[in-house]
Amino acid sequence: MHIELAERLKSLPPYLFARIDQMKAEALSKGVDVIDISIGDPDLPTPEHIVKAMQQAVAKPEHHKYPSYAGMISYRQAVSDWYRRRFGVSLDPEREIISLIGSKEGIGHIPLAFINPGDLVLCPSPAYPVYSIGTLFAGGEPYYMPLLEENGFFPDFDSISEEILNRAKMMFLNYPNNPTSACATHEAFGKAIEVAQRYGIIICHDNAYSEIYYDGKKPISFLEVEGAREVGIEFHSLSKTYNMTGWRIGFAAGNPEVIGGLGKIKTNIDSGVFQAIQEASIVALNSDEKVLDEIRAVYQERRDILYSGLSEMGLSAVKPEATFYLWTKVPEGSSSEDFTIRLLDRAGILCTPGNGFGDPGEGYVRFALTVSADRTREAIQRMKESLD
Ligand SMILES: *Cc1c(COP(=O)(O)O)cnc(C)c1O
Repeated sequence: MHIELAERLKSLPPYLFARIDQMKAEALSKGVDVIDISIGDPDLPTPEHIVKAMQQAVAKPEHHKYPSYAGMISYRQAVSDWYRRRFGVSLDPEREIISLIGSKEGIGHIPLAFINPGDLVLCPSPAYPVYSIGTLFAGGEPYYMPLLEENGFFPDFDSISEEILNRAKMMFLNYPNNPTSACATHEAFGKAIEVAQRYGIIICHDNAYSEIYYDGKKPISFLEVEGAREVGIEFHSLSKTYNMTGWRIGFAAGNPEVIGGLGKIKTNIDSGVFQAIQEASIVALNSDEKVLDEIRAVYQERRDILYSGLSEMGLSAVKPEATFYLWTKVPEGSSSEDFTIRLLDRAGILCTPGNGFGDPGEGYVRFALTVSADRTREAIQRMKESLD
């Protein structure tokens, strides 16, 4: 039998990292000690008190049943309390918060609730790929908003035509930003909200990195900004904050109609998050800030090593105020891919070519702070030896 993929899979853009993955596999098979600083997955374990809470929760028979679709009310209450403490935002746990099987799940599904075939979705570029892929799967059309250094890596709405804005039904934003590490201000979000109100566009803000910040400068929530709740929601994740990427839990919060639409989709395709994970996540959300301060200190040391090392080599990187990424300009005359391949061939270092996140990422690579300080130092040493 001939098995044929659906158009929605055939129409996906080519996987730009395929060649890099293959090169990494080749290097490893030749015995090269590859330092992989391409990955956005914390190397640190989940804090012990959260693991202990999970061990206890998993033994409770009441958690072995189907969970509630929207999330346990105690979990949503913990999210609401966390929002009030962290951002000064009050949210109704019943109507304005929903649990997610990781924020990727919610981001990937939300276009199904609001996008009709042919509708435009404004997607940043470079960006986390799920915004445009979720759009394509819903039959929508991504319209890419370039994030340029001269605009602080924020979209320039004045450069988007009236016709495009009229056709747009949804907009994704992500600050602190992956891959550029840029943070948003109240003013910047305010501009986006103005555009959303004028043209009837739902804003989906992805705040996965709000707790990975440096020098005590706390990133803001989209929902802190006036008018935000009228036009949109914010996605959140426990993955990066508590080193829980494998646990698969997150949430969305904000406009009750948007949350309700996402909930309708989810009710029809999944059955919620394992309650034991929700119970452990309540413990996570109530963690002593000291736990997070320690995690942030680990990243800050690595950031300082990598940033100063790159600067000494004459490579210009954005010094992150948040996220664990260094968005770095490649040397004059090389492309993102050339430079990535050169680093792997000559130094055994794997980074992510910026164009893999979208065309405006050409000319950059992304380094992640997800290996130890010693390995980060070694990466700098190897780069210094191989690049001159
Ligand atoms: C890691 C990441 C997520 C997804 O996290 P989940 O593990 O699915 O909660 C979402 N957005 C961005 C920008 C990320 O980098």
